[in-house]
Amino acid sequence: MRTVIIGAGQAGRRCAEALRELDAAAGILLLGEEAHPPYDRPPLSKAVLLGTDPGNGLFVRAAEFYAERRIDLRLGTRVAAIHPAARAVETAAGERIGWDHLVLATGARARRLRIPGAEDPRVLTLRTLEDAEGLKARLAARPRLAVVGGGLIGLEVAASARQLGCAVSVLEAADRLMARCVPPAIGARYAALHRGHGVDLHLSCALRAIEPTPDGGLLLIGDGARIAADLVVAGIGGVPETALAEAAGIAVQDGILTDAQGRTSIPGIFAAGEVARFPHPFWGGRAMRLEAWQVAQTQPAAVARAILGMDAPPDEVPWHWTDQFGWNLQVLGDPDPSLTLVQRAEGEHRLTAIALDAAGRARGAVLINNGRDATPCRRLIAGGKVLDAAALADAGTPLRSFL
Ligand SMILES: Cc1cc2nc3c(=O)[nH]c(=O)nc-3n(C[C@H](O)[C@H](O)[C@H](O)COP(=O)(O)OP(=O)(O)OC[C@H]3O[C@@H](n4cnc5c(N)ncnc54)[C@H](O)[C@@H]3O)c2cc1C
Repeated sequence: MRTVIIGAGQAGRRCAEALRELDAAAGILLLGEEAHPPYDRPPLSKAVLLGTDPGNGLFVRAAEFYAERRIDLRLGTRVAAIHPAARAVETAAGERIGWDHLVLATGARARRLRIPGAEDPRVLTLRTLEDAEGLKARLAARPRLAVVGGGLIGLEVAASARQLGCAVSVLEAADRLMARCVPPAIGARYAALHRGHGVDLHLSCALRAIEPTPDGGLLLIGDGARIAADLVVAGIGGVPETALAEAAGIAVQDGILTDAQGRTSIPGIFAAGEVARFPHPFWGGRAMRLEAWQVAQTQPAAVARAILGMDAPPDEVPWHWTDQFGWNLQVLGDPDPSLTLVQRAEGEHRLTAIALDAAGRARGAVLINNGRDATPCRRLIAGGKVLDAAALADAGTPLRSFL
């Protein structure tokens, strides 16, 4: 039985690996349009821009790994069409390749600004290794950088550029940073962190237009602000790569719709990673599309099991992280702003904050420079035990005593 995987990113690689781990005989073909073997994207806005060692964190697997595992990896190969009835894909070069199972692991592309002036070549996005290397080369000239978007990727780019000596402005339409993933108190800490490092932060500032200036620079015109820059990076989220699926008649709604194990609306076709929108047990089965490393790491293994007729692996508490100015932030579960946030501060730079629902059950946690609390927090969230907020607030009491 041959499985063809479209997209040789993190999810495509994980799906291929998991298939091989589970089935020594499976035929596995991994097709990727990029020129590089599969790599992880988190280092792009951090180590790659800073020129520091991403360790094992970029390519993850040695070049010979794929051949050793009998994973047929074909790079520089864009799939142009899927023919579900014929059970074949067609590459941009016109080759038709048959499959018994097909996995779409096509990920997302960076969302582009849609305002006057956004087509200027100095307005960039960051998604690929080429994007990161190109941005790094431009940052070497220490331009005045304006980052549009105060979410995770925008703030990581801002922090890296500032560390490289650039003057950096950040424009964020919301009234706080990282509004989609952390409570206001945590966003405020990060605003202070960025301002403390000299980032010029503009909150509640929706960008309206970008204009060239007579001195060869750019002027960003936002709500209540006019910001001069030489270079702009838009960090305003991702757009799932669903065009192939849509053209093949697969159900799509801001992501390819799947069940909990990645089965799409057409039998034999699956979706894995950031492109998939699937019912998430943590949110009571609500369909979610998550832009996080963890999803691209674990959900493809569930897809591989489905291909082989096996059940899903146990659920995990959702999780993602970001690194900015040397601070590590981990977000577990869903620390929704409507919940009660219990903060266990351990000095100025270390914090574990736990979000409790009305009944006192942990729904989410935010850890600043406190990764050692990740495991007990995960267990508290998964356990669903009712907790005493006042006792929990005492950072001197170890979290494990609440388990
Ligand atoms: C700069 C950056 C920093 C990040 N940092 C973090 C972080 O700190 N923490 C965190 O939790 N998450 C982070 N993420 C998110 C995480 O990296 C992504 O969620 C993850 O990469 C998704 O993996 P994927 O394999 O689903 O998609 P992708 O990595 O996008 O891979 C999809 C692949 O499919 C290929 N493809 C698409 N269409 C076709 C086609 N028609 N034919 C052939 N190939 C095709 C693409 O070229 C691509 O290589 C970051 C993302 C970025 C961009």
